[in-house]
Amino acid sequence: MENLKRPRKVAVVGGSLSGLMCAVSLKHAGFDVTVIEREGNLRESHMAGVGFGLDMVSFLHRHDRIFSPFTLRILHMQSVPIDLDVKVFVNWRRDITSWDAYYFRLRSMFDGFASSYYPSSPVASETDGAALFLPRKEVVDIWRNNNCEGDGDARPLIVEVRDRDTREVAKIQADVVIGADGPSSVIRSKYLPDYGRRTVGYVTWRGVIPERDVSEATRELLKRSSNVHMAPCQHCITYLIPGENGSLEPGERHFNFAWYTNETPESLSELLVDAVDGHRHRYTVPAGRIRESIWKAKIEDARSAPFPEPFLELVTKIKKPFVQAITETDVPPRAAFEDGRVLLVGDALCQYRPHTALSATQAAFDSLLVAEHLRGAISLAEWEEKVLRFARLHSSQSRYWGRFYQEGAMAALVSACRYWWYCWVDRMKSWWRGEAPLLRTTKFRRLDEDGN
Ligand SMILES: Cc1cc2nc3c(=O)[nH]c(=O)nc-3n(C[C@H](O)[C@H](O)[C@H](O)COP(=O)(O)OP(=O)(O)OC[C@H]3O[C@@H](n4cnc5c(N)ncnc54)[C@H](O)[C@@H]3O)c2cc1C
Repeated sequence: MENLKRPRKVAVVGGSLSGLMCAVSLKHAGFDVTVIEREGNLRESHMAGVGFGLDMVSFLHRHDRIFSPFTLRILHMQSVPIDLDVKVFVNWRRDITSWDAYYFRLRSMFDGFASSYYPSSPVASETDGAALFLPRKEVVDIWRNNNCEGDGDARPLIVEVRDRDTREVAKIQADVVIGADGPSSVIRSKYLPDYGRRTVGYVTWRGVIPERDVSEATRELLKRSSNVHMAPCQHCITYLIPGENGSLEPGERHFNFAWYTNETPESLSELLVDAVDGHRHRYTVPAGRIRESIWKAKIEDARSAPFPEPFLELVTKIKKPFVQAITETDVPPRAAFEDGRVLLVGDALCQYRPHTALSATQAAFDSLLVAEHLRGAISLAEWEEKVLRFARLHSSQSRYWGRFYQEGAMAALVSACRYWWYCWVDRMKSWWRGEAPLLRTTKFRRLDEDGN
């Protein structure tokens, strides 16, 4: 890659948050970018929150050209026990949006895609590169074009793409390929077949509840916080996210609810069966397709657990529940292949457990650094060292929290030691180089009622 003087054409595999953040930052840096995405343009709501860590804020500061608000602000993290003796354990200002609001905003910025969230696109800059989004196209392989003149570094990459509707296969040529195709990445499995995705022994039962369907007392208690209820080997979390079409209006917003329970391989296999077609899903049963008997039994579990009253109210008001097996990947030894022409980012590089809500922040961090590297501001070695260090820190942190919640403090100790070791390495490296550490810890401090 060091020999490839001016890459121009970039192909991004995967058009979710990581792919789109890379695509936007590269387009704004003047590259011609093609995003290849397996799903259609109109993605279904993930019914999920996206928390803003430091790098998401930096990304938006540099690249957001829409400017209208699209986030809600959380001021605390509080525990909600059965007797409702609520304790704020962290004063914590964090902005949160929904997956779909952020997806459509990024689409509007990348290729001007008009949606009910963002009907018009922002004004382009003269220095922008070209932007092309190819929906319902699946990447099946990539390789170097041996029929071209020149040495290895000068030969472009060929991306083989299959149309999901016609089954036709086409070839796209690119100087650089970004693998942003998520935790089951085909790009990662090509270069790192031993670093696959694995389940970790628990699942999350999820859903959203429109705020207007919730009692006044529950809304008042939960509305400005990230709310956690912990019980032995299970926990629940709930917080507000934007509602339909990204609405931030009180009453139209949604409570996002997630309940983590441990499962044996047998119970996992049983609960992943689809209510509609009987198909056994690999990791996620989509919204509204959990079998009725399974969900009824879960509600009974919530009643007998018992849940605190506001949490019970929320879980019983979920109309379209879905369940996800929690998975993770190990941090690979490398993030760059084909002499730096193929780069992995986001969940394709490393999938964290969800407890620290830092996956989208990793995506932003990787994307900003990809753009710096491709425009020559940092070397390939520096890019790779930083994205891998970031992944090691935050994946070990998420594993530590996951084990703490689901297995208890003693079981989490080994993971904690690993995490503290990576923190120490990060501190030392950053100090030696005179740079800020990569660990994204939140500074805890007192906030006023408006979160300032
Ligand atoms: C249902 C759901 C709920 C979530 N909830 C939360 C949450 O509450 N909080 C949180 O922080 N994070 C959550 N996440 C994770 C978060 O959305 C991701 O971490 C974040 O979007 C960054 O992921 P990514 O873009 O790297 O990968 P992904 O979002 O997995 O995107 C990968 C993309 O690549 C596409 N793709 C895959 N293979 C191919 C191929 N061969 N060719 C072309 N395209 C391909 C996929 O269709 C997909 O669009 C959730 C994810 C899901 C799926």
